[in-house]
Amino acid sequence: MKLRKATAATAALLLPLTAAVAGCGANGDGGGQTEGGKDTITVGIKYDQPGIGLKTPDGEYTGFDVDVATYIAKQLGYEPDRIVWKEAKSADRETLLQRGDVDFIAASYSINDERRKKVDFAGPYLLAHQDVLVRADDDSITEPSDLNDKKLCSVTGSTSAQNIKTKIAPQAQLQEYGGYSECLTGLENKAVDALTTDDSILAGYAAQDQFEGKFKLGGFKLSDENYGIGVPKGDDELKNKINSALEKMVADGTWEAYVKKNFGPAAYRNEPPPKIGVVVS
Ligand code: GLU
Repeated sequence: MKLRKATAATAALLLPLTAAVAGCGANGDGGGQTEGGKDTITVGIKYDQPGIGLKTPDGEYTGFDVDVATYIAKQLGYEPDRIVWKEAKSADRETLLQRGDVDFIAASYSINDERRKKVDFAGPYLLAHQDVLVRADDDSITEPSDLNDKKLCSVTGSTSAQNIKTKIAPQAQLQEYGGYSECLTGLENKAVDALTTDDSILAGYAAQDQFEGKFKLGGFKLSDENYGIGVPKGDDELKNKINSALEKMVADGTWEAYVKKNFGPAAYRNEPPPKIGVVVS
């Protein structure tokens, strides 16, 4: 439209520029071609979940979600040094996507209908189950109903807190904190009797050097948690690209390698890779 109105001389000047800009966004094989044509991609992860998403004291990012996100970013055209990591606490994930503060989220983010009203999900890429972490010397919690007269800790905005209130142990005294590390401190100093969230996360905590021999998992399988990659609602193009990346990741053996690397140290017994688009419940 604009070009038609321009004089021949301006058009001649504009054309090479337009072509160059178009070339930039095209999906050619040249270097630096990125989904969305940006310099960097911003990814929401957890900062306090060893084995899943952790920011180490020296500023490194490690864990299964970090590796999965790095693989996805690469498929979208972003090398690791073009990834900007951002903390995505459980209660903040939908808002971060809705506000455009992150491009996608890989943060132990369970797919469910409530969240689907606000965001979309690629995946799932991991199936976990809700469980409890208790002190190693506590034998009073042997089945889920034992939780009903206990002090439980979970995180605001997590499915774990919601499941306790609605189905698992509605009578339990549930304390909701902003992050899982606060619950761990509470469990250690007996302010709470159990920390409840996904077994994949709890296994990572139990295996930490500082907690050696202090905690144990209940092994209850209280729910199915289908981890998805959160994307802005309606961005089907991005969702489909991420789904393709996830499929490739499983097919080329990378998924298995990431599982071994990140869950091996905690001896977490993971489920097989989920089928893309199939949510187990
Ligand atoms: N996967 C659960 C959720 O998405 C619990 C873990 C978490 O809070 O990130 O709510």
